[in-house]
Amino acid sequence: MIKTIGIIGAGQMGNGIAHVAAINDFDVTIIDVNEEKIRNAFSSIERNLDRQVQKGLLSEDTKSNAIEKIKSGNGVNDLKHCDLVIEAAAENEPLKKEIFNSLHGLLRPEAILCTNTSSISVTRLAASTDRPNKFMGMHFMNPVPLMELVELVRGIATDTETYETIRDVTIRMGKTPAMAEDFPAFIVNRILLPMINEAIYALYEGVGNVEAIDTSMKLGAHHPMGPLQLADFIGLDTCHAIMHVLYEGLADSKYRPCPLLAKYVEAGWLGRKTGKGFYDYSGEKPIPTR
Ligand code: NAD
Repeated sequence: MIKTIGIIGAGQMGNGIAHVAAINDFDVTIIDVNEEKIRNAFSSIERNLDRQVQKGLLSEDTKSNAIEKIKSGNGVNDLKHCDLVIEAAAENEPLKKEIFNSLHGLLRPEAILCTNTSSISVTRLAASTDRPNKFMGMHFMNPVPLMELVELVRGIATDTETYETIRDVTIRMGKTPAMAEDFPAFIVNRILLPMINEAIYALYEGVGNVEAIDTSMKLGAHHPMGPLQLADFIGLDTCHAIMHVLYEGLADSKYRPCPLLAKYVEAGWLGRKTGKGFYDYSGEKPIPTR
């Protein structure tokens, strides 16, 4: 029975996973290479828990218990005791492989290792771990406390016991699992990211400006958020990385990342997390940058 969860990466996904695990009674240890990210993660978690209490979704008691349940660690050595470790570091294959290498021989033999990758082959990542049979994709959606789905992705070597255990953990976290095969970007991002990329092409080619594109998709297709607003929310570096994985993994030019997306990433305009992307978030209201 999984009780303790280690999380690698305290960015937007890592802190959301920690939040949801802790309110559902798992003990959590979270690590990051950047100490500031850990501090930010704790303040985001507290702010998001407060919001849930104010909305009557959570009791004060559950909130304070959850905060007690999340500890920070200094590095992978502090994850030795965990029953499950979820990697949620940046969407970069060499980086993820390096992290898995650093875990070789460290975790207990029965511990399960998961990746929150949005697009990278689970089978390929598994090969860089010391436990391909106890490794799989556990793909949470952003923002984790609000989104109901977790895509579960088995690599070629993932054993049935691991899959069943992670399915059970997903349900215990209050989420609904959906099984996706290990193809580039799985289900949600295989469909969502080409749409976002196409919206960026529409902007690049001058079909519409940021406001026109987002308004069109909100009011014309009833999307709760415009595609450019959503891209900023996901992170433009992550969007760019996912388009690359689709482009290379499926060898089809229809997935080529829009040059304008690449330019925003080169400028360090990564969306909400850096304060600027297709919108500028420095003022009271987001202002379109094009
Ligand atoms: P992010 O940039 O907010 O956070 C990544 C974190 O990883 C940073 O805090 C960084 O300091 C940390 N990190 C980098 N190298 C590390 C290392 N060696 N050890 C520990 N920590 C390290 O990114 P994010 O949006 O949280 O995305 C994380 C993962 O989740 C990616 O694989 C991404 O594809 C996936 N994901 C993202 C979304 C989304 O909408 N953003 C949704 C689902 C899945």
